[in-house]
Amino acid sequence: MNIKNYINGSFHNPLNNEWINNFCPANGEVYGKTPNSSKEDVENAYIAAKSAFPIWSQTTLDERSRILIKISELLEANLDRFAEAESKDNGKPVSLAKSINIPRAASNFRFFGNAITQFASESHESVGQNAINYTLRQPIGVVGCISPWNLPLYLFTWKIAPALAAGNCVVAKPSEITPMTAYLLGEICNEAGLPKGVLNIVHGWGTTTGQAIVEHPDIKAISFTGGTVTGAHIARTAAPMFKKLSLELGGKNPNIIFANCDYKDMLETTVRSSFSNQGQICLCGSRIFVESTIYDKFKVDFVEKVKQLKVGHPSEHSTNIGALVSKPHLEKIMGYVEIAKNEGNKILCGGQKVTVKGFENGYYFEPTVIEAKTNDCKLNQEEIFGPIVTLMSFESEDEVLQMANDVKYGLSATLWTNDLKRTMRMSNQLQAGIVWVNTWMMRDLRTPFGGVKASGVGREGGFEALRFFTEAKNVCIKY
Ligand code: NDP
Repeated sequence: MNIKNYINGSFHNPLNNEWINNFCPANGEVYGKTPNSSKEDVENAYIAAKSAFPIWSQTTLDERSRILIKISELLEANLDRFAEAESKDNGKPVSLAKSINIPRAASNFRFFGNAITQFASESHESVGQNAINYTLRQPIGVVGCISPWNLPLYLFTWKIAPALAAGNCVVAKPSEITPMTAYLLGEICNEAGLPKGVLNIVHGWGTTTGQAIVEHPDIKAISFTGGTVTGAHIARTAAPMFKKLSLELGGKNPNIIFANCDYKDMLETTVRSSFSNQGQICLCGSRIFVESTIYDKFKVDFVEKVKQLKVGHPSEHSTNIGALVSKPHLEKIMGYVEIAKNEGNKILCGGQKVTVKGFENGYYFEPTVIEAKTNDCKLNQEEIFGPIVTLMSFESEDEVLQMANDVKYGLSATLWTNDLKRTMRMSNQLQAGIVWVNTWMMRDLRTPFGGVKASGVGREGGFEALRFFTEAKNVCIKY
């Protein structure tokens, strides 16, 4: 099936007629083509967005809200179709796409459809000066949204929904590795009555299509989620044009386990926080630090649970671990196992490619637990973004805090303890945008989301996202 660009409310082949193969990770076969859009396609998308902006930015909040909520309802009504498409495109278990990923995409539209009706700006009375200041929060104009392959529709809509709610028009690009659900979203937007040109979706490689969006002089803001290296490149490209940038980048998140935690809950959640979505979530806790008094017990129990995870075809309901997203990604993961061995780390379980009967060319890999010798090895310092976690033991709070923070990333951290004072001390000192205590990946869409250090710049979520997608203008009136 050939995917098309969604520009000005209708579907178009790329002008250059260049196409990229779209692979199904579960069997390694090409099952469709994706446009490799050029600068000219991006320009057409921009022109459509620019023409739609005067009307969309003046559309009442009630009407914008109604349309966004309608998109959310239509996504829910098409749950099975979207979940199956996302699973086929990405390799994730269809059960995960159905229970979490697609419902979350629907929630993004519902949440920002509601949030925009509650969003308010400030006023400041200049006492003694007979003046009042008020702040306008005006939409920016045409904005660019670029998202990765791991949570394709979930992260794509996490950007698009607030951008549209705030009154902007959008030129968006999903990862060319997983374009299918973004393509299907166009149909839903038409059905929901989103005016043409308000959202435009252009497919293609990051280095061509994505680059053209970032370089476009009149696309005034870029919201990007992806790798740290790409984020740095985008920042360099955008800086001379003074674009607004929101960068959600990589992570190497610590999962810190103290002996005085609820052990059973911790163990089950740690299996999830290590291997959900084949470990391909920026928030996965890939470095597990365990207090020395329970280290040996944890090691045995954790490895036993991990060995029970079933690697299999994504459409099988018994599958826990589906296929990795692409062959190059599988090769990258296998490369890290070699690095681990060369560094003298010990593989406790996994470490091998899996052959699934009937789907021998699929990109399957065992969930892998590695006992690391030091925190400064490559395995503990580089983002792997796959089903590999490391274990290390620690003696004291200070020691684990030092190791947790001694990495270039700072996206999230998880802490398992029932000691309130320790919770407060450590939450304050962990260098991360999000700290979960006795839980993982519990999300409330009102909260600020993002990272520190090499994990990004800016925050998305809730009113933070609406602030990013608007320009504040202060008006001062003397009376
Ligand atoms: P990439 O950085 O490779 O790509 C992300 C997106 O950017 C893709 O759509 C990509 O297109 C595009 N892109 C690539 N080069 C350019 C460019 N020069 N200009 C504009 N766009 C470009 O990341 P991945 O897709 O490999 O995603 C994995 C990464 O995303 C991990 O590092 C992960 O941690 C991070 N991530 C961060 C999250 C967060 O919230 N902080 C959440 C989820 C993932 P193409 O696909 O063609 O390369």
